[in-house]
Amino acid sequence: MYFKYGKQSISSKDIKAVSDTLKQELITQGPVVEKFENVLKKKFKSKFAIAMSSGTAALHAAINSLKLKTNDCVITSPITFCATVNSVLYNEAKIYLSDINSSTFTLDINKLEENIKKLKKKNKKIKAVIGVDYAGNPCEWKSLRFLANKYNFYLVNDNCHAMGSKYFGDRGYAAKYADLVTQSYHPVKNLTTGEGGSVLTNNKFFFEKIKLFRSHGIEKKKDQTAKFYPWSYQINNIGYNYRLTDFQCALGISQIQSLNRNIQNRRKIAQKYNLYFENNVKFQIQEVKKNNYHSYHLYSLGFNFENLRSKGFFFNYFAKKYKIIFQVHYVPIHYFKFYQKVVDTKFTRLDCANKFYKNFFSIPIYPSLNVRDQVKIMKLINRFLEKK
Ligand SMILES: *Cc1c(COP(=O)(O)O)cnc(C)c1O
Repeated sequence: MYFKYGKQSISSKDIKAVSDTLKQELITQGPVVEKFENVLKKKFKSKFAIAMSSGTAALHAAINSLKLKTNDCVITSPITFCATVNSVLYNEAKIYLSDINSSTFTLDINKLEENIKKLKKKNKKIKAVIGVDYAGNPCEWKSLRFLANKYNFYLVNDNCHAMGSKYFGDRGYAAKYADLVTQSYHPVKNLTTGEGGSVLTNNKFFFEKIKLFRSHGIEKKKDQTAKFYPWSYQINNIGYNYRLTDFQCALGISQIQSLNRNIQNRRKIAQKYNLYFENNVKFQIQEVKKNNYHSYHLYSLGFNFENLRSKGFFFNYFAKKYKIIFQVHYVPIHYFKFYQKVVDTKFTRLDCANKFYKNFFSIPIYPSLNVRDQVKIMKLINRFLEKK
C-alpha cells in the first residue's frame, strides 16, 4: 500500500447513488444536474450554481464571464495550480503574480496593494484578483473585498482546495466575498465527482453567461420562431461542452452529505500533525488565523532543506523505502519556462513563494488515514530529518 498526499473517500452509498442514476432515462443533461446545483447552492450559500466538467472548465467560464480585453490585467498567487493562470490566458488577457504571505501561504494583502498601485501607475486596467484558499485555508477575504471596492475590480475565489472551510464561522463565505467562485471535484479534493467542478455566484448576469458557455452557447427561445420551427435555437457567442453528467452529479450529491464528517476527520489528522511538529524548531507549519476554519485538503510541512536536491533525495528515499509519496504544491508558476515567456514574471519580487517552494511539502492527509499509519508517517519524517 502507498501513502499518497491525498485520495478520495467513496462509500457504498456513493456507489449506489451512481448506479441508480445509470439506470435512469437520461444519464446526462437530465434532472440530477439541477438537483446537484440546488444542493451546492444550499451548502455553500450562493444564489446560483453551475455544475461544470472540471475545476479548470469552471475557471475558464468564470474568467470568460468578465469579458476581458487584451490589455486587462488579472492578479493571482504564484503558489497555485497552472489552471488558475491558464484561465486568464485562455481569455487572452494579462496575468500578474503577487507574492504569498510567508506564514499563511495565501495572497499577501500589503504586497498585493503595492502591486495594484504599481500597475495603475503604468496605466494598466486591473479587472480581477483571483484568491486561492491554499490547502483549505481561506484568504483574507475582508481585506480583499476592501481592495476590490477601493480599486474597482472583480474578486474570484479559486476555492478548489476549500470546500467545507469556514471564514468567520460561515461555510458560505466564498460567494459572499467573491463575485465568482470556482470549485473542483477531482478525486484528491475534499469532495469528488470523478472529474468535475462548479461555478458559484450571486450575480445573475454571470450565471446566465456561464450557463450558455457550458453548452456551446446554445440558446432556446420561446418566441414566434420557436412556435413555427420547434427545432430552432440561437447561438450568439462561442461556447464549449463543459457539462457534467447526471451520474457524476449523483455522486456529488451523495459526497456532499459526507463532507462535514470528512472535514472533521481531516481536521483531527491535522491537529495531530500540528501537536507533533509545532514545538519542534526544525519544522514549520501553516499559520491559521483565528477566524479561519481550515478544511485541510492539504497538510503543508516546512523544513529548512539546504536546496531542492536535498528535498528531492528525501522524497525519493521515502517513496522507495516506505512507499510514502510526498508532493509539492506547487512548483511556483514563475519557475516554468513557458510562463516566463507569456507572463511578466519579473514584475515584482516573489521571495516568500520561492522560500515556500524550497522548504514546504505536502504529507498524507485524507479521511481514511488511520491513527497508526499517521503516527508511523510522522515519526519516520522526524527521525529522518532530525539527523539533518
Ligand atoms: C484542482 C485545482 C484546479 C483544477 O481543477 P480540475 O478539476 O483538476 O480541473 C484549479 N485550481 C486549483 C487551486 C486546484 O487545486
